[in-house]
Amino acid sequence: MTHEPASLFAALAAATEDRIVFDLTGIEDRYETLRRELPGVVVRFAMKACPVDEVLTCLARKGAGVDGASPRELEQALRAGVPVARMHYGNTVKSDRDIADAHRLGIRDFATDSLEDVAAIAVHAPGARVFCRLATSGEGALWGLSNKFGCSPSDAVRVLESARDKGLTPSGLSVHVGSQQMTADAWHSAVESLADVLAALGRRGMSLDHVNLGGGLPALGYLDRYGTPLDPPMDKIFAVIREGMRYLREVHGDHLEFVMEPGRHLVADHGAIRAHVARLSERRRPNGERQHWLYLSCGKFNGLYEMDAVQYRLVFPTHHDAECVPAVMAGPTCDSDDAYLPDYGLVQVPKGLASGDPVWVLSSGAYAISYMTQGFNGFDPLPYTWTSAPGRTSGARE
Ligand SMILES: *Cc1c(COP(=O)(O)O)cnc(C)c1O
Repeated sequence: MTHEPASLFAALAAATEDRIVFDLTGIEDRYETLRRELPGVVVRFAMKACPVDEVLTCLARKGAGVDGASPRELEQALRAGVPVARMHYGNTVKSDRDIADAHRLGIRDFATDSLEDVAAIAVHAPGARVFCRLATSGEGALWGLSNKFGCSPSDAVRVLESARDKGLTPSGLSVHVGSQQMTADAWHSAVESLADVLAALGRRGMSLDHVNLGGGLPALGYLDRYGTPLDPPMDKIFAVIREGMRYLREVHGDHLEFVMEPGRHLVADHGAIRAHVARLSERRRPNGERQHWLYLSCGKFNGLYEMDAVQYRLVFPTHHDAECVPAVMAGPTCDSDDAYLPDYGLVQVPKGLASGDPVWVLSSGAYAISYMTQGFNGFDPLPYTWTSAPGRTSGARE
């Protein structure tokens, strides 16, 4: 289980207005743990999970790089102090202009999954290094990313051969097992298809320098739809990844390096939202049943975009040990999607909650800033602040 450090709770308690708070020390510690669990793996933070300058800067100072998905993202990472050599363009979807802009920024590593994209990279980023993304099933993940990205093993061989023929450097293979991947098996299957492609490439005289095992590592602090902790099997996942790396080196040679692009895993548990109660009300539904609804100041469009897949742990700091009632949680907008789904378990909330009372939404640090709308229905996106443990100099720019 995850635990929130005193500095995060102190920052939440000190906030008198809504905001999202990031705990930079927690993010640094999660990065260190990942490096310890997977020795030698190069970590490139998938910045779409938290495109916040201070987070990028603090990870860069620890040695992390960035996986960017557009020239704008890559530019932001550069401004935040991430060295260009530690960045790659990880999106297989890009226009000619995107490729040229990234090349101009100094980006030399590009993800790809099609002959068309390789041809465009050869023209607009001549001489670049390309790694080919293999499709995965996405099984076992809360958000499978299976359809839009990646190609089959045989297409990967064709794509990398074509890259070589066009003067590019075929440098690697990548996978993404789906976001919030809850099973170690997913990495096991990914390693098997990576091994097949590496062997096929070897037979054609092609040797790659790295394998990118993607993102997908889970957050630790989510609840499932019914309110039970998800509790992902981290030890098992790390063990399977370590064993997979050993095996792939056996197949392809000891020179093979490993990259990962965690997003959610690094930031989700180290961001929390200070929101407030709009209203706790009781309504009779068409079937006659009475039901409590907790309407919060934040929801799907300002911080909790992923509320249709997980529940969040809530803290009601002004109502400790109060008598509770079961309620449906919802955001403030006039959109009916801005609520926990009808099949969700109900949330226990203090019966005496009044409008304006603070509510802390834990483990909400991933994909919060990036998915916030520009004030849908007139509800502002959340401002952010950051905190770090006393005595620890964080990497944030002052
Ligand atoms: C979104 C994304 C990631 C991060 O995924 P998480 O599940 O947040 O770890 C990594 N790599 C690529 C290419 C992505 O698009």
